[in-house]
Amino acid sequence: MNKTCVCRYCGKVFTAWHERSCCNDCLKTEEEEFSRIENYLKRYPNSNAIQIAEGLEISPFNVVRFIDEGRLSIRKGEFKEIKGGKK
Ligand SMILES: [Zn+2]
Repeated sequence: MNKTCVCRYCGKVFTAWHERSCCNDCLKTEEEEFSRIENYLKRYPNSNAIQIAEGLEISPFNVVRFIDEGRLSIRKGEFKEIKGGKK
């Protein structure tokens, strides 16, 4: 059964076998964005999704989406831990 999906980058509506948030045209954009996040996390390992999004000027929802997909190892729900100061 095909699902109707909306691309988070270009807003295009498309169908896919399983739910996806990125159309084929934007796969490259997604990959680039993901590697930028990875690089950012190497520099600032304790960043939360909001900080990453601000640092890279991308949507926090895109960062959260990578977390939801299990591609990023930072945890959800750390939004309030902005500059906690403890480690
Ligand atoms: Zn797209």
